[in-house]
Amino acid sequence: EHALSVRGGSLARDVAMKRLAVCGSTGSIGVSTLDVVSRNRSGFEVVALTAHTNADAMAAQCRVWRPRFAVMADESAASRLGVMLAADVPETSVLSGTSGLVHVAMHPDVDYVMAAIVGGAGLMPTLAAARSGKRILLANKEALVMSGRLFMDAVREGGAELLPIDSEHNAIFQCMSAGQPRSGGRPGGRGVRRIVLTGSGGPFRARTFESLHDVTPDEACAHPNWSMGRKISVDSATMMNKALEVIEACWLFETGPETVEVVVHHQSVIHSMVEFDDGSVLAQLGNPDMRTPIAHALAWPERIASGVAPLDFAGTPRLDFEAPDFERFPCLRLGFEAARAGGTAPAALNAANEVAVEAFLNGRLRFTAIAPVAEATVEACAGEEPDTLDAVLDIDARARSWAAEAVAAMSH
Ligand code: NAD
Ligand code: MG
Repeated sequence: EHALSVRGGSLARDVAMKRLAVCGSTGSIGVSTLDVVSRNRSGFEVVALTAHTNADAMAAQCRVWRPRFAVMADESAASRLGVMLAADVPETSVLSGTSGLVHVAMHPDVDYVMAAIVGGAGLMPTLAAARSGKRILLANKEALVMSGRLFMDAVREGGAELLPIDSEHNAIFQCMSAGQPRSGGRPGGRGVRRIVLTGSGGPFRARTFESLHDVTPDEACAHPNWSMGRKISVDSATMMNKALEVIEACWLFETGPETVEVVVHHQSVIHSMVEFDDGSVLAQLGNPDMRTPIAHALAWPERIASGVAPLDFAGTPRLDFEAPDFERFPCLRLGFEAARAGGTAPAALNAANEVAVEAFLNGRLRFTAIAPVAEATVEACAGEEPDTLDAVLDIDARARSWAAEAVAAMSH
């Protein structure tokens, strides 16, 4: 068994108390994480919280949680936070920048790291947590998509535990445990024929491609089933989220894209499925609320309360499934293509998407131009798989600048 071990801590302390750093604590996943922890206070100690620019939200969290560290990625936000906390939360040290994020992610007094920063900004702290052998609760799929093998090697070499928070991957992880684990207790398993990633289809599931030309950021962010940050909401609307999740699944479960199938299931009750060689299909079900995968990953292999309402079967009379439409949602095709191509394609796809989504959210790019920007960038930046951190950062930077030019050329 991949035992839970107490690393670097004093043996005298209560071994049941897990010391947690929540990276991205002011975001949707971060807030849900603190909600689950608040229901299980005897099991967890919040040692560090991190955020980007919102010092007010961080100050409010620090007053409740009184962590040892509060990190603001933005320097001026860190100064503001320092002023706000000096009088009433003197026990919290304020750190800043990427170095502050990395400091808490690898701190010896941290056991668990919730990686819930959005986008490539989460790479450095998440990688640092992997190298330092933490239990990583991985929401930040972009970090894994960018760095792929490098990240998985860091997990193995660092002796880290990787538990997926993405609801699909958490579901797959749970279903996989019905099979034979791989050596070393890693998720994935023998006898798996197919991984079925479910997706709601997002807010535009039933729309024609032409009608997507003029959609606004608010329309794209109005997800029917999940309440999430704006970047992942746009990704759900383009289905780039599912594309990134295909790549994420290949790394997490050590398989190729030919084993992964996407099925549109608009009720978002089945969070994903695993089919075994004998035809058995296991599914994980529940209300669409991220507190379930968060509680699962915090407690694994135990179970704790999450605050999620029980599934109402009589109120959910139907579970519908349909094949995804790769024509209307070209980003999904790009995800499978990048997973098959490997090399620089996943990192370039992720970087281009981040640039394009930001431009869309700022009104500089049409919704339907996100996929063309991503596709052109992946083609332009084709190359060998990055196998060092510098190589990952280099392809990320090249793809971002290429995508920024493509956005400028396509702007309306
Ligand atoms: P969000 O936008 O609500 O929150 C993002 C968090 O990251 C905030 O705390 C923000 O302060 C911080 N952050 C943003 N930019 C940063 C930067 N440059 N440096 C440091 N910190 C920064 O996002 P979210 O919806 O909570 O998503 C977080 C991650 O979880 C994403 O990778 C997303 O794909 C993944 N995820 C989210 C959900 C969901 O339901 N929200 C589901 C599955 C996966
Ligand atoms: Mg997901």
